[in-house]
Amino acid sequence: MIAEEIKIKDVLERTNNPSLEVVRGVLALAREKKGLGLDDVGILLNSDDAQVRDDLFQAAAQVKNEIYGERIVFFAPLYVSDFCVNGCAYCNFHTENKGLKRKKLSLDEIEKQVEFLIDMGHKRLLLEFGEDQKHNNIEDTVRVIEKIYSVKRPKGNIRRLNVNIAATTVENYRKLKTANIGTYQLFQETYHRETYEKLHQGPKADYDRQITAHLRAFEAGLDDLGLGVLFGIYDWRFEVLALIAHAQYLEKELGVGPHTISVPRFCPASAVSYQPEYPVSDADFLKLIAIIRLAVPYTGMIISTRETPEIRKQAFKIGISQASAASVAAPGGYGEVHEDAGQFRLADQRPLAEVVKGIIGDGFLPSFCTACYRQGRTGEAFMALSKPGEIHTFCRSNGLLSFAEYLEDFGKNGIYEKGYALIHSYLTQIEDAPLRQKTQTCLAEIKQGKRDLYF
Ligand code: SAM
Ligand code: SF4
Repeated sequence: MIAEEIKIKDVLERTNNPSLEVVRGVLALAREKKGLGLDDVGILLNSDDAQVRDDLFQAAAQVKNEIYGERIVFFAPLYVSDFCVNGCAYCNFHTENKGLKRKKLSLDEIEKQVEFLIDMGHKRLLLEFGEDQKHNNIEDTVRVIEKIYSVKRPKGNIRRLNVNIAATTVENYRKLKTANIGTYQLFQETYHRETYEKLHQGPKADYDRQITAHLRAFEAGLDDLGLGVLFGIYDWRFEVLALIAHAQYLEKELGVGPHTISVPRFCPASAVSYQPEYPVSDADFLKLIAIIRLAVPYTGMIISTRETPEIRKQAFKIGISQASAASVAAPGGYGEVHEDAGQFRLADQRPLAEVVKGIIGDGFLPSFCTACYRQGRTGEAFMALSKPGEIHTFCRSNGLLSFAEYLEDFGKNGIYEKGYALIHSYLTQIEDAPLRQKTQTCLAEIKQGKRDLYF
């Protein structure tokens, strides 16, 4: 099985203190966008030279740009229930937090939260639940998903729901599959077994249940799978290698690597006394993003509002392709003022419009696209396009259309003009003339009131 710790530690030792020449060789290989082997990753993890850092970031920016282009896809998390039977040391929802007034949203409350998110401009959500068979069973989860997809507002609806629920059985994953979800995400938190077992209590403390979950999800037909590590709880170099080994293992076993990789970093929370033993500095955090981007070029990379606007801005350049925005990490929190009830404290609390304004200023294209899974481009079909960089072709057009829709419905305070200027400049970069023409026609239709156009 993956995460063979000795092997990973061996790689780190074997590749220690690499020469500049060796590092440059790995970066040259990485620029070919075919991914990297574990030893190559070890070499990058072990290189501390300041000049190499610039080269690393340039290579990562190039690979990101060639595969994912200029787009940043936005989503918001929706916390449905913070009932949880687990005792994860780092999480505010841990079962021993008796001071937390736990909440599970009713279907009516969910409808209101979803209306609020749609009226903000969101089209994609990530559902979050604690683990608790009594309060959050899979049938409830499916009902919640159906409810969310049914909510329609004058300015749109939620078109893709990704789900982050605890590791479960093939049977339960099958039920989830019937609800038409996008990506199933589950983070290993740490690949280091001893640390994992030390920091978890309850059903989640079973390391093997966690690390085999994606295989069961795949068996149930969920083929867009998300991986992640909670950075700060163990040595980040070890975690990055293990994460990449996990990605390679899935690719080998299933023929499909991870659709996304998330990089959450520990954040303080009101009832969490745990202090990360291996805090990751901002410089190392950016470095690990660049390395993951080079090692697994085809995967979508996700950053959340745990990170500050400044870190997010730099991360977008060197690898991140998806970001949450205007998030609240507590059930029922959208549209409400709340202090410390959330899962952890968020560092980027800007409204969506402000986040959008910021990234337009940096030349990125905000995207609310949900086309791929609705067009059946999931799992292997998605990989067949993303690996050679061809997903870029569709995505630029779809990104432009989804952003034009956002501008028509929500583009105020100078965003509208600036946004359209950006759309026009990227439109001219669509090389395929018929596709460019079709995109232009769709853009005109969106101006006239048509919605949800995609390829
Ligand atoms: N309860 C499910 C689970 O644990 O898999 C669903 C996901 S939980 C709501 C989302 C993720 O938040 C966890 O997987 C963990 O990585 C992250 N998380 C928990 N506490 C955190 C903290 N203090 N700082 C940053 N991320 C945290
Ligand atoms: Fe529960 Fe998930 Fe928090 Fe762990 S991380 S306590 S499983 S909500």
